Amino acid sequence: MSKFPSYIQEVDGELWLTEDERDNMKLSYRVKDIIFAEQSPFQHVMILDTYDFGRTLVLDGVVQTTSVDGYIYNEMISHIPMTLHPNPKTVLIIGGGDCGVAKEVTKYDQVEHIDMVEIDKFVVDVSLKYLPEVSGNLSDERVNFIYTDGVKFVQELENKYDVIIIDSSDPVGPAEQLFSEEFYQNLHKALKPDGVMVCQSQSPAFHMDVTKQTYQRINNLFPITSIYTAVVPTYPGGLWSFTLGSKKYEPKNLGEKWQDKSTKYVNQGIVESCFVLPEFMKNNLK
Ligand code: SAM
Repeated sequence: MSKFPSYIQEVDGELWLTEDERDNMKLSYRVKDIIFAEQSPFQHVMILDTYDFGRTLVLDGVVQTTSVDGYIYNEMISHIPMTLHPNPKTVLIIGGGDCGVAKEVTKYDQVEHIDMVEIDKFVVDVSLKYLPEVSGNLSDERVNFIYTDGVKFVQELENKYDVIIIDSSDPVGPAEQLFSEEFYQNLHKALKPDGVMVCQSQSPAFHMDVTKQTYQRINNLFPITSIYTAVVPTYPGGLWSFTLGSKKYEPKNLGEKWQDKSTKYVNQGIVESCFVLPEFMKNNLK
């Protein structure tokens, strides 16, 4: 029996991580070192040191974030809703175990309280220890870590948060219900009357069906719904989508509201232009 999980292969003395993306595609990364590998109660958790992307968090064989490009996703999913809401004081993050989103949200002085609901404490502990480039060794007393299923957590909430960020893994296993209609209804209830929510809505290149379904589900509930994109090299397809639901504020001329947060990817031009969609996405969302 191999000493490695099936998605790590030894080829000519070199280690490779291979992600099975789809039936017809695999993505492989050359691995320098396995820093951590253990089964948690929910998933297989690994931190790898890879040649091109540095420290990399892998859950059940799927790359979640890396020290080289993780900031793109984490900044985009955090700063767009945080800029849209004029005064975000209470924030809920669901998922987000690598702590990259919480790190970005703590850059807002007006935020008083952040509930971070992650199903797997293992991911948080390992990311704080081995992935400081992403987690920033987060230690901010406004962050309240809650280890439970985000689906259950939002069931009984009403009128509580200004901003909700769903930083989930792909819609399989524990994250599947984080893409369901009922979950979005509960998020809508959990938001204040002028609240804003955002979720990652997958690759428009490979999973336009999921992107479209997410958009439609959120659009059925919120008066203002918008999709924006960013290019994340380690996510299959590169182009990644985020769907925003807002009860009151429109992301119009949003660049004008941007305030510098010492970011590496987001700037005024990105905030302004990220809602411009390629033609195939516009056509598919009709
Ligand atoms: N940025 C990443 C991506 O798009 O691949 C996702 C980052 S984050 C690591 C995703 C987190 O969601 C994981 O740590 C996972 O444990 C958590 N998660 C999955 N299902 C969950 C649920 N039902 N409730 C709360 N957290 C969940």
